[in-house]
Amino acid sequence: MFTRCIFCHKPFAPNGIFGRLPPGRRLAFDPERGRLWVVCEGCHRWNLCPIEERWEALHQLERMVRDRSQLVAETDNIALLSAGELFLIRVGKAGLAEQAWWRYGRELHARRSSFFSTRSQIAAYTFGAMQYLGELVGLGDEDLSITWDDTPAADILRWRRFGWAAWHGKLDCKFCQSTLRALRYDTSWWCFPKVDVGGRMSVQVPCPRCDPWTPDNVYTIEGPESENVLRRVLAYQHIMGAPEGTIRDAARVIEDAGGTDPESLERLVSSYGKKSLWGMGKTRSIALEIAINESVEHRMMTQELQALEFMWRREEQLARIIDEELTPKDIRDRHERRLPVEVLARGKLPGDQD
Ligand SMILES: [Zn+2]
Ligand SMILES: [Zn+2]
Repeated sequence: MFTRCIFCHKPFAPNGIFGRLPPGRRLAFDPERGRLWVVCEGCHRWNLCPIEERWEALHQLERMVRDRSQLVAETDNIALLSAGELFLIRVGKAGLAEQAWWRYGRELHARRSSFFSTRSQIAAYTFGAMQYLGELVGLGDEDLSITWDDTPAADILRWRRFGWAAWHGKLDCKFCQSTLRALRYDTSWWCFPKVDVGGRMSVQVPCPRCDPWTPDNVYTIEGPESENVLRRVLAYQHIMGAPEGTIRDAARVIEDAGGTDPESLERLVSSYGKKSLWGMGKTRSIALEIAINESVEHRMMTQELQALEFMWRREEQLARIIDEELTPKDIRDRHERRLPVEVLARGKLPGDQD
């Protein structure tokens, strides 16, 4: 088994994973064609593993993908996954679509358990009590408003984690010429998200000087920052996470809109009608948070994926030549076993316990 990049001779970092995997933190593999590469972190070249060392490593990778990896992004040909310290580039597609739901389901669920954990509740109440004492002696922070009789812990935790404003800047109201300098989190429920047909996002903030209940008199936060504002506001509002049923319903809302690509996101937001974050209700605002995060990450990864796909095509051509023309036939016959696609999709892998 090689330990260094054959192109630049940089040693591969050990990945600390017990089993048959080659060293290196970035592995690329194609279970259907039986290919396995170590991607050099120094020169980014793909090092094809010797044919006799692939079979068991591929099984191990497939099992990791199935049991404990997170889907980062995917195209028709390539899926990027993270599994602990490993970054995996999996060529070919086999039933990974649902992993996005898994990931957010788990994240929102984890937020919920961490919110209701005794430690964070005690920390919140301690902090709140100090704030309360501070107010008595005139040292309190005026921007923190705690509703002591509702869910004080949520208010305190939110304030500690997010601060008080989701956006700072200067926007004028077209109708009364007043100026918006900051978007406070505690009023952010009343914002209206909007997505154009081209996928461009904006956030409309009702003007408190005009009639705040008329969604036409608004300040409009536009451009790339609107997307960040909306993501921050949603994370703030959903600090308590969501129970499993709500997450599942939210996933269904996204599926009904067609997914998380820009067109589907536009469809999702328009299907809500002109509703504030508060007005759309918990399930649909959770769906919005998931869909926006997905589409932002998707966009960020698209460029890297395109580069990887280009690399893969080149390396695959090379691998075919090495395997089919430069490897003696008897070695090839001994090791040319492939993982059938149906097995990969969701079924058992050889060696799984019943
Ligand atoms: Zn290298
Ligand atoms: Zn106004």
